Amino acid sequence: MNGTIQASPQSPPAFSWEQWYESIGGRHIRIAEVESYLKKIYEDQYLRFDGEPAAEKYIFPSPAEASQRIKSKALEFGADISGICEIEPSDIYKGRTVTEKYAIAVGQRMRWREFQTVPSRESAIECLRVYYTLGETVIQLAQYIRSLGYTCRIEHPIGDSDLLHIPIGLKAGFGELGRHGSIIHPEIGPLFRMGSVITSIPFETDKPIDAGIAAFCDTCKACRIYCPAKAIPDERSAAAGKDHLGNDRYMIDTGKCFPYFATHNYCSICLPVCVYNHKEWAKDFDGYKTKLFPTVIMNEPPPPADKVPAELRHQYPRTGRDS
Ligand code: SF4
Ligand code: SF4
Repeated sequence: MNGTIQASPQSPPAFSWEQWYESIGGRHIRIAEVESYLKKIYEDQYLRFDGEPAAEKYIFPSPAEASQRIKSKALEFGADISGICEIEPSDIYKGRTVTEKYAIAVGQRMRWREFQTVPSRESAIECLRVYYTLGETVIQLAQYIRSLGYTCRIEHPIGDSDLLHIPIGLKAGFGELGRHGSIIHPEIGPLFRMGSVITSIPFETDKPIDAGIAAFCDTCKACRIYCPAKAIPDERSAAAGKDHLGNDRYMIDTGKCFPYFATHNYCSICLPVCVYNHKEWAKDFDGYKTKLFPTVIMNEPPPPADKVPAELRHQYPRTGRDS
């Protein structure tokens, strides 16, 4: 029987996107392809989230085989990486509850060739393209799990979600938390997006990894130097909590990042400038002319968006501000 997992008292509230956009005077990015992907996600994919499990339940020979089979199906359905972890109260947004025991995390890489100039129309469209294709992956995976007689729910990479994607990805073995606040995978770097399917199939879980990436961040500051909003910190902060390795986390000043992100084609500069992209570049040399380092367009940042009420947002440090 499933138990109910309550969010931890320390959990942040889920993203109130409308309040965030209101705080900067509405949505600014107007790109037809982006609008088209958003429409398809909200008006088509969201309607395909739910479904009934088959009457007959398939019994897996062992938790290890269940994990192996479900993760290989996720790859077959379009994921580039897949991992499984147990859901804990700190993975759940404030006030939410989850009855499923495990999260199957899936990630899909974004193409380097679209991030050779950032921010750009191309990089914005690529973000949304991957949100859409990842949406198809989680829908197919959920349908497959239901065909085996198990219930499950989708945590789409965009929109409302009960789970925090980052801690789930870290526990599922996707990589380490970078200074820029995104997960860095040892092979595909930080240029990927994540979603998950949650279920209570008895699984063997993956383990977080320590490949020396978080330690490297302590000496590399490329993302911090190139962040036009100056939202990425110099130092780890004890108040930001711990990452999966027990380090104090680096915490982004979201009040400075969001206005830049929302007015400059989802910014994303911190991802392609991250040195951990190098290993993946070769893949995009196949037939495409690519640069070794992106052209980075840095404009004057808009004022910070601090009007979102504290109870509707997670806490963030006021990085490099006078007061
Ligand atoms: S998305 Fe842009 S503004 Fe936000 S942290 Fe990254 S580089 Fe800075
Ligand atoms: S650019 Fe450097 S400091 Fe920033 S996340 Fe990547 S490795 Fe870490």
